[in-house]
Amino acid sequence: MTTDNSTRTKRSQFRKAQILSGEKPTPDRVHGTAGGYTNWYCRCAKCKEAWAASCYDMREKRKQRAIPGHVHGTENGYGNYGCRCRPCTTAWSDATRDRSQRRKARAA
Ligand SMILES: [Zn+2]
Ligand SMILES: [Zn+2]
Repeated sequence: MTTDNSTRTKRSQFRKAQILSGEKPTPDRVHGTAGGYTNWYCRCAKCKEAWAASCYDMREKRKQRAIPGHVHGTENGYGNYGCRCRPCTTAWSDATRDRSQRRKARAA
């Protein structure tokens, strides 16, 4: 399955290059949508605004959504759900420590 995956990645990289070089212009209907920003790499004011709004929406929705029980005690609970309960905080600080230790180990 890895081959399949890397083909897809290559294809999307190719598409990105085409878009960025202007070979594939952003369709008009896409401007002002979050997809314009994320899929078409458009950074016009309208797309940026739509993207920011969709990020904000997602964050708000996530906040409103009850945190599923299985999320507590994971990095996800702290990072994505904004939960600050003890298990989530512990998981987050553990993960952060792990990451910095791994980084140090690699640097050494
Ligand atoms: Zn745009
Ligand atoms: Zn929690």
